[in-house]
Amino acid sequence: MNLSIRETEALDALCDAFVPSLAFEKDEDPALFSMSARDLGVAALVAEALERIEPAKRDAFRLFLKLLEINQKASAPRIPLSKPGPETEIECDVCVVGSGAAGSVVAAELAANGQNVIVVEAGSGLSAGDFDQHELIGMHRLFREAGLSGTRDLSVSILAGTGLGGGTTVNWQSCFRTPDDVREEWAELSGCSFFTGDSFTESLDAVWGRIGASTDESEAVHRAKAPADGRQSNGRRGSLR
Ligand SMILES: Cc1cc2nc3c(=O)[nH]c(=O)nc-3n(C[C@H](O)[C@H](O)[C@H](O)COP(=O)(O)OP(=O)(O)OC[C@H]3O[C@@H](n4cnc5c(N)ncnc54)[C@H](O)[C@@H]3O)c2cc1C
Repeated sequence: MNLSIRETEALDALCDAFVPSLAFEKDEDPALFSMSARDLGVAALVAEALERIEPAKRDAFRLFLKLLEINQKASAPRIPLSKPGPETEIECDVCVVGSGAAGSVVAAELAANGQNVIVVEAGSGLSAGDFDQHELIGMHRLFREAGLSGTRDLSVSILAGTGLGGGTTVNWQSCFRTPDDVREEWAELSGCSFFTGDSFTESLDAVWGRIGASTDESEAVHRAKAPADGRQSNGRRGSLR
């Protein structure tokens, strides 16, 4: 069965917990003790076995992997951060301003292509291990102006995340695949055929694979369903994840 990258990582970690790589004594067989479940490819065999078990049990197991993923994230090693002073000089090929949905992806892609990249972030460097699950405290620490941003005349309030990950750290994680009719509209309005091209489709596939968007585990809650219902009542179709 095809597991997402994150599910595979969680399954690898789970298998390693049962068959870890161990130190060996002089007279012991190194191959026997040092090979972990990951080295032996146990996760791939488990994934294959999942094909043959009852769907309900398979779904429950995948949900368990999801919980492990969340737990892994909370104990993930912290990203090394530094706070530059007013005189700090840093050399790089590219400086990305903001670590939100756009900036972080651009930075990761450039770094993967060998560029020396720095990301400058105005908000805090808090990450999963710092979160205490209290909504009010989270609002203060992770939202722009503690969630009280607005236009100058205060007629429109602006809810935006700030900090490592920008809005992605606080967002509700509903995922729409950009519908074809919207892509056509963008192409027509902008005169840019990129929006309807294969490269855009491949980018959507890459993002969905990376974040593991799927309908496997939950029914969309009312709040997340509303945009899809709205689209349908306007005669447009769209899938919601
Ligand atoms: C509460 C909430 C729920 C949401 N739910 C969903 C959802 O379910 N599904 C969905 O698809 N989208 C959702 N969104 C929207 C989504 O998160 C944003 O569209 C997305 O994060 C925007 O990405 P961005 O990179 O443009 O900006 P952001 O993610 O906002 O990132 C901008 C970053 O730049 C930093 N920054 C700004 N100025 C500077 C500067 N001068 N120097 C250094 N750093 C700077 C900010 O601190 C911030 O971290 C939600 C947003 C919010 C606030």
